[in-house]
Amino acid sequence: MTDTYDNLSKEDALSILLMPDQELPKLLEAAYKLRKKHKGNMVDIHLLTNARSGNCSQNCAYCAQSGQSKADIDTYQMINYDKLVKDGYMVKDRKLARHCIGLSGIRFSDEEILAFAKEIKRLKKETDTPVCCSIGFLTREQAQVLKEAGVDRINHNLNTGRNYYPNICTTHTYEQRISNIKMLKEMGFELCCGGIVGLGESPEDVVDMLFEIQTISPKAVPINFLIPIKGTAMENQSTSALTSEYCLKVLCLARLLNPKSDIRCAAGRELYLKGKEKWMFYAVDSVFASGYLTAGGESIDSTIKMIQEAGFEYCIES
Ligand code: SF4
Repeated sequence: MTDTYDNLSKEDALSILLMPDQELPKLLEAAYKLRKKHKGNMVDIHLLTNARSGNCSQNCAYCAQSGQSKADIDTYQMINYDKLVKDGYMVKDRKLARHCIGLSGIRFSDEEILAFAKEIKRLKKETDTPVCCSIGFLTREQAQVLKEAGVDRINHNLNTGRNYYPNICTTHTYEQRISNIKMLKEMGFELCCGGIVGLGESPEDVVDMLFEIQTISPKAVPINFLIPIKGTAMENQSTSALTSEYCLKVLCLARLLNPKSDIRCAAGRELYLKGKEKWMFYAVDSVFASGYLTAGGESIDSTIKMIQEAGFEYCIES
């Protein structure tokens, strides 16, 4: 194992995830050095709006929005514009970094994309906030329509390692995800690309996913830790492997492999890293506030307080 954590091989990366917890402080220091160099002490906050919820044709086992899930969630075809713009103003007024907008589903008709692009254009005109959309597989033409409407960043997660993917979803392939990402990259979109840890995968699968993400070189890498949601295929998934130490090792590895990217601790931070936020921010420079697509989370005020109490900075004007 290298001492400097430079140019990590897959074997080095695996030994990081498997290292004894007593070695974690050294790893955190190495991650912090890179975080400090590229991101200073700042933490970005993102707000997530679920613009279309539920009834998805896909069978992603962790997802409450899959048509196969029996989770008790609100389902709707398209969010009311007033709610979308209210969230947009929250991003603007609270000086959050970005408005992330997720839509359930994997494919959209051209009419649906045109209607959505119209709402985005209106939102951008009113609030002028940076927008990122999570919106399944797009055709090149649909992506172009969204680009012209003002979407400059798209989220498309890999979710897990290539070999493990068929265990969490069989209605589309890992390769389809990769080709969608490649197309978006070619078209000049900024990319947000991460995954979920705790799906029953091995540490080797996490390493495979993080190396695949490294080749994509996204602007942002959101790392989620599974929140097993009642009614989903993963409601009984054990999360015993998600100790705070393991979660911190994954986040540090994400930073070491993608030093310049925004490393975001997304869903699960409230569950697995409570009280360890100071250490989390040694690797992470970005979080969500006000919850996730179908799970609640810490409010904006509590998130800002948490960042400041951890000794990091969130730039806000009173
Ligand atoms: S993760 Fe996306 S594609 Fe998969 S079931 Fe949920 S909404 Fe559908």
